[in-house]
Amino acid sequence: MHQLTANEIRKKFVEKEVSAEEITRYFLEHIDKIDHKVGAFLTLFPEQALKRAKELDTKRDAGQHLGRLAAVPVAIKDNIHIEGEITSCGSKFLTNYRAPFNATATERLLAEDAILIGKTNLDEFAMGSSTENSALLETRNPWNLDCVPGGSSGGSAAAVAARLVPIALGSDTGGSIRQPGSFCGVVGYKPTYGAVSRYGLVAFGSSLDQIGPLTNSVDDAITTMEIISGPCQKDSTSLPKKLEGLSDPLPSPLTIGVPWKFLEQLNSETREIFEKSLEIFKERGAKIIDVNLDILSSSLAVYYILATAEASTNLARFDGVRYGRRSEKAETLSELYNFSRTEGFGPEVKRRIMLGTFVLSSGYQDSYYRKAQKVRTKIIEAYKEAFKACDIIATPVAPTGAFELGEIRDPVQMYLADIYTIGCNLSGVPAVSVPAGFTSEKKPMGLQIIGPQLCDGRVLAAAKFFEEQLNLNPKMPEWICHNG
Ligand code: GLN
Repeated sequence: MHQLTANEIRKKFVEKEVSAEEITRYFLEHIDKIDHKVGAFLTLFPEQALKRAKELDTKRDAGQHLGRLAAVPVAIKDNIHIEGEITSCGSKFLTNYRAPFNATATERLLAEDAILIGKTNLDEFAMGSSTENSALLETRNPWNLDCVPGGSSGGSAAAVAARLVPIALGSDTGGSIRQPGSFCGVVGYKPTYGAVSRYGLVAFGSSLDQIGPLTNSVDDAITTMEIISGPCQKDSTSLPKKLEGLSDPLPSPLTIGVPWKFLEQLNSETREIFEKSLEIFKERGAKIIDVNLDILSSSLAVYYILATAEASTNLARFDGVRYGRRSEKAETLSELYNFSRTEGFGPEVKRRIMLGTFVLSSGYQDSYYRKAQKVRTKIIEAYKEAFKACDIIATPVAPTGAFELGEIRDPVQMYLADIYTIGCNLSGVPAVSVPAGFTSEKKPMGLQIIGPQLCDGRVLAAAKFFEEQLNLNPKMPEWICHNG
């Protein structure tokens, strides 16, 4: 069962080959066997999941309509709300915080009869690239337990890679779905900004954040996107119209842009896997052209000014009064703010709040924040210009495969893990990470495919084409395959 895709699981359920209860029990047992080694889940809901499964069995036996994810177990990153459950954001600040409502994405999954199994680990408030910034749990990469799963949606990526669930939701502010997708050898999709409602996603960088799926097949990513995308009254930045053509065919002939100059520094192994991926398209008639995205060499600097500015504002609401932790040592109001934040936040979150507050401070706003906004506009224009000459853009997802736990200690070096992904968040364009091969150390690596805004269907079609033609093996870590 753990080898199947979500679409296959639903089919077996609908055709009465297996009951929702059997599916749910199977996955809960699989999690039990595997997750003490991986550490993907922060919380599990076995009782609620089984209760829901039984309700679905009754519904099926009564011949009622079954949703598109009927009986499919789904995991949710722990910065996305499920009503009545803890939303910890991987932070000590929120270990006692229960979500008062469902995120829109959660609501839509439930409306299609998905079974929510649990919440997955993440870098604290989604700030990080390895999930090592979680204050609550260590997550390991199922392909190599000494390595990180990537981040910040490392728990979701590891859960899907270890086949603990066929679908998990993540959030992507600068690469947090795609980079762990690449490290864990799964499909990770970041939609066009605004395609999926952010209502019920704990805000990090509001102009960058998007919810998206991590799955074992592009088809499952398409299904999930069809369900969770669409306008939402409760998020003023959600797009007014539903995305169209999510399962459209790939344009032909296809022109792929590659920003070669920006990719100059690629190490030989990453380059080799990337060039082989391009060959697959080329052999099947695609044209590869050079596009100019040199401006992306500034994207890391721009991102770490804008994302921290937005984060410092968004995280101001954690004041010891309204949400989560309240310091017991505080005697005055200002101590309450100060101590609650000192006790509740980890070092990376504090670093970002300080940096964000600095770039927004009156003396420095013009030289940092405003300047970064201007360069952001230039980045948006550069993508637009590039897409005049090509249908999609291809790059690696990350400079390397998964690194070892504890290997990267310098925060700035960690930020470099997102060099190829953050440009897409700054410009709001859709992008996917799709498994492309393995390094000599047998670590997975993804190919990133990027499309113009609103052309999510084209990105997914290209990913699906690539997945079919490549037919990568092995599809899962050996120990997971046999442990089922
Ligand atoms: N790694 C990036 C950061 O630390 C991106 C995080 C994300 O996409 N949530 O900010």
